[in-house]
Amino acid sequence: MKRIYVDENWCLGCHLCEYYCAFANSGEADMVRALGGKKISPRIQIEEGSGISFAVSCRHCEEPLCVKGCITGAMTIKDGVISVDQSRCVGCYTCILSCPYGAVMPAESGVVQKCQLCLENSCGKPACVSGCPNHAIVYEERTL
Ligand code: SF4
Ligand code: SF4
Repeated sequence: MKRIYVDENWCLGCHLCEYYCAFANSGEADMVRALGGKKISPRIQIEEGSGISFAVSCRHCEEPLCVKGCITGAMTIKDGVISVDQSRCVGCYTCILSCPYGAVMPAESGVVQKCQLCLENSCGKPACVSGCPNHAIVYEERTL
């Protein structure tokens, strides 16, 4: 299946992927209305240090520890895509502790959120990928 892959050699540390992610998942049609004057809460996050930067996002693992650890069945895998059903999440954060990549994060609502490849929002494909000005994030099928 297609996954998001990140190349730190091309990341500019501009954080635009975070803004495109927050916008894509905001439910708003207008970027200013979605993000203007607000603290954004993206599902992809830039890590920076020692002169390099790179985007951290869900790898949609073949054997996802977040799904295994979820105590309510809110975290599921379907056709290789790992998703959280926020209506079933109780905010215990077991998945946050389980994920080896730091790809699950608290949502403003008190439950959790993660990258779901923009398959369920109006974009239909990862907004971080199309928003990255330097092609440091790609969405493609690779042999693992
Ligand atoms: S949230 Fe973490 S453990 Fe779960 S599929 Fe994504 S990278 Fe893997
Ligand atoms: S925080 Fe929610 S999704 Fe994560 S393990 Fe707990 S119930 Fe499952």
